[in-house]
Amino acid sequence: MEVFSREFLADRRRHLVAKLAKTREAIHREGLLAAAINYKVRVLIPQIITAIERCDNGVYGFCTECEEAIQKERLLRHPHVERCVRCQTEEENKRK
Ligand SMILES: [Zn+2]
Repeated sequence: MEVFSREFLADRRRHLVAKLAKTREAIHREGLLAAAINYKVRVLIPQIITAIERCDNGVYGFCTECEEAIQKERLLRHPHVERCVRCQTEEENKRK
């Protein structure tokens, strides 16, 4: 059974590539807070790049913890997420 259609995956990949370019552009924009730049450079950009690599390796859309398919709505809203809601919540609780 196909979990994600080829169109869905291609669309998410296009979205990620565009988001990467936009995020990199934003870093060079004046007036952006240092904390925001820091977050983009250290967290967001690596996550986007990893997600693009996961597209290319055919594992995009599956949780890196439990390997279950991530909810489509979640991938549409945040195409760079690596975990399903359940694993993400567990991870955040661990950090608290
Ligand atoms: Zn999971």
